[in-house]
Amino acid sequence: MSKLIIEARINEYAGRGANPNVPWSPAEIAEDAAQCRAAGASIVHFHARAEDGAPEHDPAVYADIMTRMHASSDVLVHPTLGAATLDAVPEKRMDHVIALAGDPATRADFAPMDMGSANLDYYDPAAKRFHTTDVIYKNTTGTLQHFAKAVGEAGIKHYVVTWNLGFTRQALAFMDMGLLPEPLFLVFVLTGDNLLVGHPGTPEGLDAHLQMLPADRNIEWGVCNHGGDLLPLVDKIITEGGHIAIGLGDHPYSELGQPTNADVIAHVAERAKALGREVASPQDTRSILAMS
Ligand code: ZN
Repeated sequence: MSKLIIEARINEYAGRGANPNVPWSPAEIAEDAAQCRAAGASIVHFHARAEDGAPEHDPAVYADIMTRMHASSDVLVHPTLGAATLDAVPEKRMDHVIALAGDPATRADFAPMDMGSANLDYYDPAAKRFHTTDVIYKNTTGTLQHFAKAVGEAGIKHYVVTWNLGFTRQALAFMDMGLLPEPLFLVFVLTGDNLLVGHPGTPEGLDAHLQMLPADRNIEWGVCNHGGDLLPLVDKIITEGGHIAIGLGDHPYSELGQPTNADVIAHVAERAKALGREVASPQDTRSILAMS
């Protein structure tokens, strides 16, 4: 079993009502990333945010954040690029990440590919209503083929995201086609009660994916729970050889008090130690995933 890769999902588009420790500004993101690295994370995933927390799409801000992150620690950098730019031409969504890859100071180590399209209407189970009724996150097969090629040519590691079995099957087909190299880094996004596109954050929700994976393929799999608590699955993931992506972007983690992202990462690292599995450094993670 490989060492445990821990990825910090530090902010997404989370507010600060439930936990004020969500980092928004470039300086806060870089500081939070360095603290997560010190606590055991080898990858940090972030979304650029404006001063008031609103989504920020300016490529110059992404460049600023990645420069700060590379300068403050050796953590591997994983920016968003997909759902944040729903109005962009799909083939263009990757362009700024590809352009920034030419400079070591602004280089992303991973580029995410969500392996299908989905309804992204958030649901309120208490009020029994959807906040929106027409939001589609569109990833055509052609767009994904373009991403697979462009990311590979830029020397960035494909971060292959699957929300349901259809996405997982699409990822495996891309492997069969030779579009995604092994080892494949395949991350299962389980979802909470407010976003229904993913499998629920239960052992059964995760096992449905795991049962699909062919034994003769080199796949390193990870798990996050967007909008839900991943802690109940942490021991299962650690003992079954998976990797963990977790942070305040997904859930306030009030189960741990009012933690920072680094506190959440430290908790996962402690579970790994208790269960006898070593935690991967950024260099270990590069080696496990055969990154350049
Ligand atoms: Zn994200």
